[in-house]
Amino acid sequence: MILENDANAAALGEKWLGAARDLDDMCMLTLGTGVGGGLVLGGRIFHGMTGMAAEFGHFTVYPDGHPCNCGNRGCVEQYASATAIVRMAREEIAGGSATQLARAAESDPEFSAKIIYNLAIQGDEPARDIFRRVGEALGIVLADIINGLNLPMYVIGGGVSSAWEAFAPAIFSTLPRRSMVYAATAPPERTQAAAGAAGEVQPRTAARRTIVTRALMGSDAGLYGAARLPLLA
Ligand SMILES: [Zn+2]
Repeated sequence: MILENDANAAALGEKWLGAARDLDDMCMLTLGTGVGGGLVLGGRIFHGMTGMAAEFGHFTVYPDGHPCNCGNRGCVEQYASATAIVRMAREEIAGGSATQLARAAESDPEFSAKIIYNLAIQGDEPARDIFRRVGEALGIVLADIINGLNLPMYVIGGGVSSAWEAFAPAIFSTLPRRSMVYAATAPPERTQAAAGAAGEVQPRTAARRTIVTRALMGSDAGLYGAARLPLLA
């Protein structure tokens, strides 16, 4: 029997049949109730010394930020998980200016990240701002991972990734400012967007680009990845 954690299995699923199916090296962040990480190198999950590698969800994005269950403060999990989205919404509501969010929280006992996303795409500014913070936290952690690993692809999956439209713009505005590796290897359209903002980013490498994209497999990625494991054993 082979045991593999969900985030690793999801990464392998995306590598096998999903967004990264033509690549041997990739990284995946899974945004669910927490934030999981998976790293595939040479077509195989990289486990590290004791199986604890790729805990990207516990990379620090804000040194004095919200306390995390892991003992650290300001982990990306505290800003980019479904749990964090609901917490940030409740903080906004407590602040007193988020009237739409307050109304939604009052009327729905299962006040969820999905409800907050629906308000965001309807244009509610406090809800939109929460997803900007999600994207900024992801941009910061992705910039660190990109600088460290220089992989061809980074996939964002998990339930929260269905809110891609709401948080992705903040990822792509954060990345070129925080990662020189990304700035040098971003796809042309991203580079131009960055050049428009920063005025000096020049594409240097013709073919090899850093792709940050959403998962293709949805919640099936973990199942497909798990199915793949016995084949690699
Ligand atoms: Zn943590």
